[in-house]
Amino acid sequence: MHRRLLAPSVLGAVLLLAIPVGTATATPQAGTPGAPGIGDRYYPDHGNGGYDVSHYDLRLKYRPGTDRLEGTATLLATPTQDLSRFNLDFALEVSEVRVDGRKASFARTGAHELEVTPGATLPEGEPVGVVVRYAGTPSRVKVNGFTGWLRTPDGGVAANEPEAAWWWFPSNDHPLDKATYDITVAVPEGTQVVSNGVKTSESSGLGWTRTTWRSDRPQATYLATLAAGRFEVTTDRTADGLPVLNAYSRDLGGNAGAARASVERSAEVAEWLSGIFGPYPFNALGGYVPNVPTGYALETQTRPFYSPGQFANGANVSVVVHELTHQWYGDSVSVKGWRDIWVNEGFARYAQWLWSEKEGEGTAQEIADYLYAARPADDPFWQVEPGDPGAKNQFHIAVYDRGALALQALRNRVGDRDFFAILKGWPKANAYGNGSVADFVSYAEEASGEELSGLFDTWLHTKGKPGQPATKAESAARKVPVKQPKSWKKIAATNTVHEHEHR
Ligand SMILES: [Zn+2]
Repeated sequence: MHRRLLAPSVLGAVLLLAIPVGTATATPQAGTPGAPGIGDRYYPDHGNGGYDVSHYDLRLKYRPGTDRLEGTATLLATPTQDLSRFNLDFALEVSEVRVDGRKASFARTGAHELEVTPGATLPEGEPVGVVVRYAGTPSRVKVNGFTGWLRTPDGGVAANEPEAAWWWFPSNDHPLDKATYDITVAVPEGTQVVSNGVKTSESSGLGWTRTTWRSDRPQATYLATLAAGRFEVTTDRTADGLPVLNAYSRDLGGNAGAARASVERSAEVAEWLSGIFGPYPFNALGGYVPNVPTGYALETQTRPFYSPGQFANGANVSVVVHELTHQWYGDSVSVKGWRDIWVNEGFARYAQWLWSEKEGEGTAQEIADYLYAARPADDPFWQVEPGDPGAKNQFHIAVYDRGALALQALRNRVGDRDFFAILKGWPKANAYGNGSVADFVSYAEEASGEELSGLFDTWLHTKGKPGQPATKAESAARKVPVKQPKSWKKIAATNTVHEHEHR
């Protein structure tokens, strides 16, 4: 009777559903292991194949006195193939892995791989939850001879590029796999935590303070950050209502004033940048300065990391301009592969030139003229191709300076109207995604209607000092000695911006 009551179409649907399930039970799909790397030419073992992570939920407990970190990470992932096994990138000690609630076996392989074998093959396209319990002392865990975790007298900091996540959460560690994040961290009362996005809650009890941070837009793993220490925190809202949170170590000594005088201008800088690059892409804004001995800065999403050394010679808003530019060029639109680093750094450096122009401290053209003249043809600087510099030279100064010269050359070729339309159009066209150098060249050609491969080949893909300078013909013809622009020293002071511990 029941069957007769079913409409034929519904009955058909039931049968269609029943057949594949029955087949699968009879002969389970074997599946194949996910690749141990995502396919990056510079870093073959970074990231992994076979799945895509959509969300990380991290619950952490950190003791600044001993640098002991305990955590439970829940990853929501979708297999992109029938998956018999998959890798995560991680360096701390793991005690348990569960996939969809069931215990999975796991093993260490390679330099930083955690190989997870679930009880049964994970079917392609069906989301799974992966829970990893772990603990460790990140400052003591070395991968390839170094730790990306920065230990401070009052705690620790995770901020490095391209490797940072290995020391605090298991991940698919490559910008190609971005995800949203909820990060909850418990620290002893009296210690503060800084992370990405909006601080959604804070509570204290039994000697511990717990804060929760939400990043609701896709974020690359290296842009996730964590700092625990004794911070002074300032909060505000922008004119548009965006929450601003800045944090300064209480132990910045003589750099404290200059750090604040720079980072407190983040909202102003972001407002100015949104006039150039379009609406600010994230849910929060700010920056933080821990008491680290390093010299670099990093565009950690919504909340860049600054070393106190950046402010040793006084306030430097130029470095804030650099890191906040990355929120569009690097964070919202990320590299497809690390070879595409110019799409991050060339633009962040060029924005420093634009800030100089706005401040009346030298136009971008004047800086380009000066830089071009200051680097003789036999300077090894010209041997680095910003469009594909190689892993060793990923953060070479040429990627920044020659990279910015390339943009000045583009500006002179297509004119200001098209140039600024391109600067604004690219982050909009690729928001929350990835883009390569080649993609940018195509985009600029389409937007300007000009054939630009020759120009970009010259500036990004050819060894040697380009014969045709980025300078305008008339200033080259004048042959007057090129004067150092007022902003030069402040910009040069940020040359170490990404010179960090690496390998
Ligand atoms: Zn940068």
